[in-house]
Parts: sequence; structure tokens; C-alpha cells
Amino acid sequence: MDELREKCGVFGVYGPGSNVSQVTYDGLLGLQHRGQEASGMAVSDGEAISHFTGEGLVLSVYNEWVIRGMRGDIAVGHNRYSTSKGGGLHHAQPVLVKGEFALAHNGNLPSVVALEDFLRQKGQDIIGQSDSELMAYAIQWYKDFGMSYEQAIINAYPLFTGAFSVVAMTKTQLFAFRDQCGIRPLVMGSLNGATVFASETCALNVIGAKFVREINPGELVTVDAKGVRSFQVMPSNPKLDIFEFVYFARPDSVMYGKVVEDVRYNCGRILAQECPVEADVVVPVPLTATHAAAAYGWTLRIPTREGFIKNRYVHRTFIQPDQNARRLGVKRKLVALPHIVNDKRVVLIDDSIVRGTTSKELVQLVRNAGAREIHMLVCSPPIMYPDYYGIDTPNKEHLIAANMSVEQVRNYIGTTSLHYLSLNGLMEATGLPEGMFSTSCFTGVYPIDLHERAESVRA
Ligand code: AMP
Repeated sequence: MDELREKCGVFGVYGPGSNVSQVTYDGLLGLQHRGQEASGMAVSDGEAISHFTGEGLVLSVYNEWVIRGMRGDIAVGHNRYSTSKGGGLHHAQPVLVKGEFALAHNGNLPSVVALEDFLRQKGQDIIGQSDSELMAYAIQWYKDFGMSYEQAIINAYPLFTGAFSVVAMTKTQLFAFRDQCGIRPLVMGSLNGATVFASETCALNVIGAKFVREINPGELVTVDAKGVRSFQVMPSNPKLDIFEFVYFARPDSVMYGKVVEDVRYNCGRILAQECPVEADVVVPVPLTATHAAAAYGWTLRIPTREGFIKNRYVHRTFIQPDQNARRLGVKRKLVALPHIVNDKRVVLIDDSIVRGTTSKELVQLVRNAGAREIHMLVCSPPIMYPDYYGIDTPNKEHLIAANMSVEQVRNYIGTTSLHYLSLNGLMEATGLPEGMFSTSCFTGVYPIDLHERAESVRA
């Protein structure tokens, strides 16, 4: 299984008397950057759960009639990217079991052996099921055994080996729970008496909700007619994925009390201290590196210009499942401006290099636009190890920094020089201790046991 991708966005709302499908729609719009392949929503009116999924962006998946038709008091929603079981609608979420339990998952379980063994022993058909579906089935099994859903989730927890930030619902209850490291984000907010959960605070901004708090790693929160209850199911060992700050999260989101934009700005400032380059112009690779480039240019007194124009109607290239599509995607998406880079010494700033495809294409664009020198600066350290917790950084063999020295990468992408931000620099940018993060893609230290996947890290 080489394609592990599950960088998704989840949303949930418990709001009797409020328009939960509209709120969920707006929340999912605010989480669009976390997944653009499919979107889905489940809504309960207390009697039944209605369910809708479609391929593509939130704006194109739903229409007014769908949203109006899904009336109720509780809803969960999901934006999906692509998963370990491939793209398409088949595995779109929320997962709905027996019309009674809906679950939306952000993250990835690197090991499903325990989960599969458990379900197999119980006589369940598990062939072709995604990790999220297996999670929902295990919870439902405990429910059918006679437990409340709350107890069922608590009992199923130890079977979930990996990263999960989940919102789930029954006809009358909403749940939010997170793995004990809290690898993927999950927050709680309030909106005119309704309780909402979302992957990122930016979704709260969109719907006008107030931020209440982060869901603790290892915590289960239940919301129903009796109110909000919290259970610390597993001891908390916070290890948010540092890549949320590097690339995933929207700049207006706040994680661990830090605004993502501010951390990215700091990355640029520290990059200027660690790798000052003599140049005429600083050009960010849109959009993630914009803040870092502004700080880099400001610190070194080099003008920062938008040397690339982005076609805002073409979406993230990385998201396209195969390499060829991704390569074409860069050209469709970006144009380099000759009047900014021609005959100049250009500093190009990007957030990360994964396979190297994007950088190589970008450098070519800038070169064709007449740049004299191109210095590539990256706001994160070399990605040496695959990700297993849901961010789609692929097999080790595809990670350029795992297979080439910095000099070889420089040569491959065709730049005058190449510099990466150090891990210490990245940590300094967050203002938080390294121990609070999962830095596995840089260090190979995986806070949640990889079990059978550990071999591929060593390979
Ligand atoms: P590449 O080196 O061609 O594989 O892609 C690196 C580019 O993809 C960088 O410009 C990042 O902005 C972006 N990127 C990095 N990590 C991810 C990810 N997990 N999902 C989507 N895009 C990413």
C-alpha cells in the first residue's frame, strides 16, 4: 500500500433549532484547503440521519436544495483528499453505519492489524474497507454488543493505532475525539448556544463561532441534550504534526495558541539569519510561502515581489494523484513575470520540497523568464522520512531529500544555491519546545508506533 493520503478536514455541530446543514456547509468551505477531492455531510433530525457525498469542491458538491433538504439538529461534515484506498466517491466520508452512526476522520492509521483482527474475529466483512470505515464498524460493534455509543468509542479506542481527529454522531449525540498525541488538530467552538467542532479555528472564523478550546489529545467530548461532557480516554501526550504549521493549516488558524501566519513569518525571518543570500528580489512561491518571503525580504532589505501570478481557479497541484498530472498542474497554475525576474538574482522561497517536482518546474519557469541566478530557500528542513499520520508525504523512495544530498537536490532542481531552514530554526519560529510536535518527516522519530510499517522507514 504505497499511497497513503488523508489530509482531510472535519466539522461537526450540535445545534437544535439552528440551521446545521448551512453551518456545516460554511464550515466545510472554511476547511476546503484540507481536501478538495470530495465532500460529505450527515445530518440528524432526531429520527433519521440523512447523508450526502459528492466529488469535488464544496461549492460544486452541494447546492441550495441539498442544503435545504438536510434539516436537523446535529451534523458532521468532511472534506476529503484521497486515502489509502484511493480516490473517488466510494470511500467518501462521513462513513454511515446502519443509518445510525456517522463518522468523519482526519488522520491515518498506519497499522490496522489490531482493528482488522478484532473485526474479523467478530465475523465482520472488512475487505476493501478504509481505516475510517473500520473505526466506525468497531464502534458500532461495541454498540450492538449493548453499550452506549460513548462507551463504545471508549472501548474501541485502543484498536485505533495512529492519527485520528474524529467527529461522529448518532441521531441524538455529537462526539469529537482525538488520538493521544493529537497529531492532527481539532478544536471546539460555540455559536449562539450551538457547540461546534472543526479541524481548524479558521472554520470557526468563517461561521462566526467563538473559539472555546482545543480538544485534548486522548480526549473524547460528547454533546447531547444533557450538555457537554469530557472524558480523558488516554493519557495526553501532545505531538501536533509540525507540518500543520509548515504547510497544511490556513494562515488565520491558531494552533497551540500560535497564529499560523505568524509562525510562517518567523520562519522567513530566521531563514534570513541562517541563510542570508545576496539577491535583487525575493519571490514567494504562492501561496503558503508568502508570509515567510515578506519576512526574509524585510530582514535583508531586499524587495519582495510577486514574481509568480497564480491562477486562483486551479487548485493545489500536489493534490492531483499522479505525478504527470502534478507536473502539468504547476504550469497551469503559475506564470513567472519576466519584468520582475529578468536579469535578476532571485531568491525563491517555498514552504517545503517533497518530491522535488514542483521546485524543478518553478525554477524552469523563473529561468525561462530570464533570471540570472536562482537561490532556492525552503522554510522547513529536508523531508527525509515518509509520513504515516495523514499528510501524504510519500514513500521514502519518492522523497528527494531521502535519496539525494543537498548538493544533488540543488543540481536536480537546477538552482544556483539551495538552503533549508534548520529544525531548530523551525522550532524557534513556533516559539514552542520541539517535544510538543511530531517532527517525524524530518527526524524519523514517530510518536505513535508504526508496527508493520516501521520496516519501510528503515528501508
Ligand atoms: P513536490 O516537491 O513537488 O513533491 O511538492 C512540494 C510542494 O507541495 C511544496 O510547494 C508545498 O507547498 C506542497 N506540499 C508539501 N507537502 C504537501 C502535502 N502533504 N500535501 C499537499 N501539498 C504539499
